[in-house]
Amino acid sequence: MIFSQKHLPLFFVRVLIVFANFGFPWAQDNREYKIGAIFDESNSNQERALKEAVREINEFDEDINLSLLIKRIPRDNPYEATKATCDLLEDGIVGIFGPFSEDNSNTVQSICDLKEIPHIEVRWDDYPQNGTLVNLHPYPDTLTKTYYDLIVSWGWKNFVILYENNESLQRVGELTKLFEPKTNRIVMRQLNSVKSGGNYRPVLKEVWRSGATHFLLDCSIEILEDVLRQAQQVGLMTSKHNFIITNLDLHTIELMPYQYSETNITGMRFLDPENVNLTEKATNIYESENFQIFMGYRLRLSEALTYDAVKMFANALKASEPLVEPTKISCYNGNDKLRSGTTIVNMMKGLEYPGLTGVIKFDIKGFRTNFGLDIFELMEGGQTVVGHWNSSKIPPLNISRINIPPEFDSDDIRNKTFKVMITLTEPYGMRVDSLLPLYGNDQYEGFAVDIIKELAAIRGFNYTFLVREDMKNGEQDAKTGKWNGIIGDLIDGVSDLAICDLTITMKRAQAVDFTGPFMMLGISILYTKPTKAPPSFFSFADPFAFEVWKLLIVCWVGVALILFILGRISPTEWENPYPCIEEPEYLVNQLDLRNCVWFITGSIMQQGSEIELKSISTRMIAGMWWFFTLLMVSSYTASLASFLTTEKPDPHFENLHELVENAEAKHIRIGAKDGGATESFFKDKYAADENGDFGKAYKLMMKSREFLKIKENKDGVAEAQKGYYAFFMEDQSIEYETQRKCDLTQVGNKLDEKGYGIAMRKNSTYRNSLSTGILKLQNNGKLAELKRKWWEERKGGGQCYDDGGSSDATPLNLSGVEGVFWVTIGGTILAIFFAILENSMYILKKSRRTGVPFLETLKDETKFYFRFGEMEKEVGMTEESTKEGSEENGEIPYGFVQKEGSAETIQSKKSKKRRSRSRRSRSKRSRTNMELRPPSVRSPSRKPPSVNSNQTGWLNNEN
Ligand code: GLU
Repeated sequence: MIFSQKHLPLFFVRVLIVFANFGFPWAQDNREYKIGAIFDESNSNQERALKEAVREINEFDEDINLSLLIKRIPRDNPYEATKATCDLLEDGIVGIFGPFSEDNSNTVQSICDLKEIPHIEVRWDDYPQNGTLVNLHPYPDTLTKTYYDLIVSWGWKNFVILYENNESLQRVGELTKLFEPKTNRIVMRQLNSVKSGGNYRPVLKEVWRSGATHFLLDCSIEILEDVLRQAQQVGLMTSKHNFIITNLDLHTIELMPYQYSETNITGMRFLDPENVNLTEKATNIYESENFQIFMGYRLRLSEALTYDAVKMFANALKASEPLVEPTKISCYNGNDKLRSGTTIVNMMKGLEYPGLTGVIKFDIKGFRTNFGLDIFELMEGGQTVVGHWNSSKIPPLNISRINIPPEFDSDDIRNKTFKVMITLTEPYGMRVDSLLPLYGNDQYEGFAVDIIKELAAIRGFNYTFLVREDMKNGEQDAKTGKWNGIIGDLIDGVSDLAICDLTITMKRAQAVDFTGPFMMLGISILYTKPTKAPPSFFSFADPFAFEVWKLLIVCWVGVALILFILGRISPTEWENPYPCIEEPEYLVNQLDLRNCVWFITGSIMQQGSEIELKSISTRMIAGMWWFFTLLMVSSYTASLASFLTTEKPDPHFENLHELVENAEAKHIRIGAKDGGATESFFKDKYAADENGDFGKAYKLMMKSREFLKIKENKDGVAEAQKGYYAFFMEDQSIEYETQRKCDLTQVGNKLDEKGYGIAMRKNSTYRNSLSTGILKLQNNGKLAELKRKWWEERKGGGQCYDDGGSSDATPLNLSGVEGVFWVTIGGTILAIFFAILENSMYILKKSRRTGVPFLETLKDETKFYFRFGEMEKEVGMTEESTKEGSEENGEIPYGFVQKEGSAETIQSKKSKKRRSRSRRSRSKRSRTNMELRPPSVRSPSRKPPSVNSNQTGWLNNEN
């Protein structure tokens, strides 16, 4: 026998594959098959991958057409899984993809086994791959072998396994069996995502306290980012810590935060995220509009496997096409089966397919075999492949540190010696003041010098400083295109690196390479500090903005008027002018317009007016006004104080626009360092727009340049100190100068945004090494420390800190006191409300006493209120009135009424005499008592009521 019985099906499959490749003579063209897919509700990306694969097959494969039926079910819900599977079977499908969760998958598998439907899985599953199941995920035991090989290769003896759940315990449990307990100490700790609610710190702290430094981390991709972040938080991400992370999707999460931590993180991946084919597919799967290089870093293994599975299934389907007869299958009919199901499955397992996840091939047990994994380490340059693991090779693990881009290799410049060009520009490069002779690098100090020292310490290179004495950073000759200054030196090979206040500009970046910026800055104006301007004639008005003054006047007039009106309608404000006369003929009111204005004015001036208010409403409005004046006067006083101590710029300009507009009129000259980045910035702006502010500034700059060329910043600063010279300079340098020269200040904001960098020849291999070195200095706070040292602490820094004299006082505008106005308005409205209430009560009472209807009484009273000139009311006294209008206690004489039919009495001579007597004595009294109206302005008294009137109140308005 050539074949054993076991080999027969395999032989049959191989024959079919041969036919498939060369075509079946009886095969029909482009047959359509239905395939089913069951997804756990959360797996939308897998669904996209599946759809993309089906789309490609339908679009590019002429022999076959697939239609996709999708069911979405909750995770671990066997009932729904059964229902979804049976529904799909009744639609006549030829295969089922998914689902992902274990319970659902097992349920689907048992039905598929029964009905001989191919079931394609892409999940971690350590069950035997028999029946109609085809799983494209690498076999767990093989993966365990990978972890083992790696741990051995890294030489770990003792380590901690951090696992998440049962599934990961199964994985790492197998691993522990491979180690010898005597020689290896393995501790296991669970990161229970359910119990901990996402807080893994207690477990991580515990292992940190134990002093463990080597960890094998096995958890789902969903919690991996949290675990790593929390590990960093508790101090497990330092250079002495080592991690092997088993999740095959590690490359898809954000690893940047750990890149510079120097922690040894090793991961493995099935996919090559930078593979063009994979990137292209990922772009399609994620329906990204443009082809994007980083898309490969988003694609997870399960998505790539799903894509491969569909492609492979379609091939198997084509190969077994003549035998495939799709039928509608009922779950409840025991005889219903897909007769060709097993053939398709065998065909799939017999195929060898080059997919996104490498060559897909199954061994005799149906497990995926011959697969390879990339082993990568997280380095400063990102994920760096350091080896390869292949299940078919002996030994499978090959650590070679391959694919390490030279520019990311931090050791690349170790022991190299660079010639570093500097300029002696404070505080970037300076000569050390020393009585002893100094040689070599010791001669120099400064911010840039220190940066080189720090970088050399990190990267291990040597350096020699060279000094460019003419201070030229580098300008390109417009005619010859040749660069001068330190840029020219780099190009000519005089130096290897250049560092000073060297601005990264577009033109320079085309000629040389720059590291990432070590300092950010922008152009601004250096000018003499404002001197005290002589106070103006009306400077007392400065503390308030004009609108506030306007509103203040409106309030002053408004409140006086309202007080006057309320005074008239408040009964309490009408009082007996002769307290000793019990029955006055008339009442007087002190709140005439003049008194009201006087009272309100007195309050503003914080003076008394001796006008005493009596009613609730007038007191309320007075209270509000006092509150208002208290706040306004305090604000005024406070603001005035700062105005008196404020120095105003002289000549006055606060920004570039004002400078260029007033420069000529005020004889201000403008300058910038000759041939520097600042000057060329203005030059470029001038070329673009001559009449813009920048263009005008450049013209003025050129005019000043005819008389004075600024060779270095120091000269410009000295010129600025002389006055009437606006020097354009980079704000970091301005900050340095203004901390030492207290007569200078920065005027206006930054005009642009750029940075200083270290320059080197184009395409230098050490650029990335230096750039990442700078990032490191930035991350560990070294750059900030150096800045503090050279700006604030050394060479007389920090002298001009407490100079508050130049702070600009601004007039208090409406928004600053708006609330006070509103409170006053609110109080006034409340006072009006009280006045109306008071008056209504009085009228009600009066109408009850007199028997005159309320409205009639109200009408009479109202008419009187509108006779603004009258400040006296005549009164007809009765017994009741004396009772109520008690003047002894100064209360409101409510209800001065005249009863109907008693007119005779009131009209009597006695009464008339009394009235004339009263008037005489009042005119005497008015000369001494402020509360009474002066005789000259007194309004005519009201006439006594007529006998027949039935509206006989003390406010009777008969004329
Ligand atoms: N940082 C400038 C440069 O690199 C010099 C100073 C300036 O132009 O303001 O040219």
